[in-house]
Amino acid sequence: MSTAKPRADRAAEARVAATRIEAEGVDGVIVSWVDNAGVTRVKTVPVRALEPAARWGVGAAPCFDAFLVDDSLAPSGGPAGDLRLVPDLTGLRRLAAQPGWAWAPGDRWTQQGEPHPGCQRQFARRTADALADRGLTVRAGIEVEWIVDGGEPGPAYGMRRLIGNSDYLRDLLRALREQELTVLQLHPEYTEGQYELSVAPTGPVEAADTALLVRHTVQAVSLRHGLRASFAPVTAPGGVGNGGHLHLSLWRDGHNLGHGGPGPHGLTREAEAFLAGVLAELPALLALGAPSVASYLRLAPGRWSGPYRCWGLENREAALRLITGSAPEQANAEVKCFDAAANPYLAVGGVLAAGLAGLGDALRLPAETTGDPAAPDGPAERLPATLGQAVDALRKSEVLRTALGEPLWQAVIDVREAEIARFAGLSDEQLVEAVRYRY
Ligand code: GLU
Ligand code: MG
Repeated sequence: MSTAKPRADRAAEARVAATRIEAEGVDGVIVSWVDNAGVTRVKTVPVRALEPAARWGVGAAPCFDAFLVDDSLAPSGGPAGDLRLVPDLTGLRRLAAQPGWAWAPGDRWTQQGEPHPGCQRQFARRTADALADRGLTVRAGIEVEWIVDGGEPGPAYGMRRLIGNSDYLRDLLRALREQELTVLQLHPEYTEGQYELSVAPTGPVEAADTALLVRHTVQAVSLRHGLRASFAPVTAPGGVGNGGHLHLSLWRDGHNLGHGGPGPHGLTREAEAFLAGVLAELPALLALGAPSVASYLRLAPGRWSGPYRCWGLENREAALRLITGSAPEQANAEVKCFDAAANPYLAVGGVLAAGLAGLGDALRLPAETTGDPAAPDGPAERLPATLGQAVDALRKSEVLRTALGEPLWQAVIDVREAEIARFAGLSDEQLVEAVRYRY
């Protein structure tokens, strides 16, 4: 964990990095974090101030923990205090679509040098460390979906749409490659103007960092092509939405625990227990992974958003989709019910914490759902259909309360409740407009 390094080591690392990126034409460095509402916030420093920023952090008021998606504050947000936002230089990248800028994810620390209890990124890292204490690692990747207004129209997954937007998409691939990200796939998605991009799996905190970098890059490349990208859960009420599906696999000693075991479809007992833990906590996890009032306009049957609390092999309506892949090391599970409004650190950390609880209790998966979970002969349980229901589940979840820690757990609940109150009475159209370009 680079930000846990002594200040002097961080500063030395920053000095070297700043010299290198300044020679490469960088003038400013962006340090970003994601608030509890799912909005990416930034501070920037000139390249020559990277060293003090890495040594001391830059100021970031604690009231950011109470920010809502529309920049108003939950009642818990007060004017006092300060925190230090410290760039994690292991994630430093020169931004290909924002010439002259580099970017690094930030961790938030107290002025006394302790981890800020509300720091979502350090929460994700804590859960990854707790798995590591059991000899386990997770490989994860977040699929990014977005919708642009403008651009050449065309059918879902259609060649016509790809041809009409090929310069845009090519520039995106190039920018991501220059930023050292490994893209696996890119395609026109179902709805008009929608695309999806997937990246190679990495460690869990890095996967969340990568999701941010992909989103920043999509936004920047889109603007260069006169397009505006929306990562909102839906951009038209009743339409297909933007998912933020989380893929993950559990590993021990270099072996993927998702195959070669006695559980369903070859899951080892450990992988089964982990996934059963995730399934058990899914209603509460939605308060992290589908965090907006608007998230529940997306989470409806028939849109492959995973609105049912069940699991199934390659089942795209199940919230938890098992994927065996074509080689043993590819086996993974996909949490489909999460969307792109989620703070990826909260989503990843929450899922890891739920999986850890499943491991602790040696849980087993319930019966698999093989067809449409909505089938009249035995419909699967629906996940929360409103943010309020998800927040109720989060209130009751001892697993997530303990893992998040009281301050972060409470801050998330405060923000969710304030957004529910803020948007009460809006029509679906008004709600969509309120969040369309916020995430
Ligand atoms: N756009 C769908 C969603 O909201 C997902 C489509 C798919 O990639 O399966 O999650
Ligand atoms: Mg998709």
